[in-house]
Amino acid sequence: MARNIGSRYTAHQILGRGSAGTVWLGEGPEGPVAIKLLREDLASDEELVGRFVRERTALLGLDHPRVVGVHDLVVDGNDLALVMDLVRGTDLRTRLDRERRLAPAAAVAIAADVAEGLAAAHAAGVVHRDVKPENILLDMEGPLGPGGSHPALLTDFGVAKLIDTPRRTRATRIIGTPDYLAPEIVEGLPPRAAVDIYALATVLYELLAGFTPFGGGHPGAVLRRHVTETVVPLPGIPDELWQLIVQCLAKAPASRLRASELAARLRELQPMLKGMPPLDVDEPDAEPPFDAGADADSPYPAVSSAPRRAAVPLVPGAATDSNRDTHTSMRVPGPDELAGGARGTARAPRTPGQRRPGSARHKAEAVRRRRITLGVAGLVLAAAIGAGSWLAADGDDEGVPPRDSKQSAPSQP
Ligand code: ADP
Repeated sequence: MARNIGSRYTAHQILGRGSAGTVWLGEGPEGPVAIKLLREDLASDEELVGRFVRERTALLGLDHPRVVGVHDLVVDGNDLALVMDLVRGTDLRTRLDRERRLAPAAAVAIAADVAEGLAAAHAAGVVHRDVKPENILLDMEGPLGPGGSHPALLTDFGVAKLIDTPRRTRATRIIGTPDYLAPEIVEGLPPRAAVDIYALATVLYELLAGFTPFGGGHPGAVLRRHVTETVVPLPGIPDELWQLIVQCLAKAPASRLRASELAARLRELQPMLKGMPPLDVDEPDAEPPFDAGADADSPYPAVSSAPRRAAVPLVPGAATDSNRDTHTSMRVPGPDELAGGARGTARAPRTPGQRRPGSARHKAEAVRRRRITLGVAGLVLAAAIGAGSWLAADGDDEGVPPRDSKQSAPSQP
């Protein structure tokens, strides 16, 4: 069923549904287009509509091959629509769900495309604020690049900002998707270009590993990890690529690369990654991160790991505000919640078969290991007492351990 959007566009069929609205395949004076009809509650928000119109120039001005162009903004009765380039393909989340992990060459090619799009946006003074696989479209009609990847385009520019009206997101609320949120946003600083770099490095890590570096479990725990945890290296990742990811996941925004630098560095790495298979990394979240019994007093609902990035309200008792991954309105948790809401720490990638730290089975294993250690220690002690009394009886003092025996220090990643 066709539906008119303003006087110039017709929407024909639904291409997909997202957190901010529904995307339609449509037709305009210049040919086929994609039309994003914003959710009714957004479209009926007068403040948002005013902002939408005021933002028109910035959104329409972004013209780059790695950015899904916005042609028009339509305000028509109850409809509020963005008319965009039609990308014939799929979004990166769909590809990731299908393949779980991408070959490093493909992951890097996609990240480099997105970094180029971000460089153009940042040069125009636009910060995306919600870089994530759902907002990266793969153009299946474009040429196949390194590692079998189609050209990637960043979409949904300005949507996060539009939704971020003062009334919707008072000073205590934040916008974004927990897994990709830069630490400075969690700490309440205004989002600058570096937040997009952090989010893109998170996406790159996810393409390589199959999971995000700080995701999993309660959103409060995810936010805390962004601020306090260090990213754990992925087994088998080439060092140059790892260093780039680490630099772009730096807690201090000023330490991260700029988008144009990141794009150039990623392109330089591409020849080296040719033919490399996807990394052999095991998902750290194979078990539920919460022990429901231990969490009985929590004001938050118990969360299981499936689906891992499900929308969970940060405000106790509140309904989820999204059926996808974006939290468009989240209360910033207090320091006590950030400190106490988490189970476990940074989700270290595991080799297959290894248990996740903090899990029930991991704890059981730890107890078993402690028992074995105590048993062994007991035996050693008994042997030492026996040896001591033998030495005392023998009157010999050569049994003193050598003074230069070293303790092995844990290696620093
Ligand atoms: P989200 O809010 O989760 O980011 P969107 O509302 O942007 O999702 O998009 C929902 C779906 O619509 C996407 O997964 C994609 O399949 C499709 N889509 C979005 N934009 C376009 C476009 N410009 N061209 C073609 N398909 C699109």
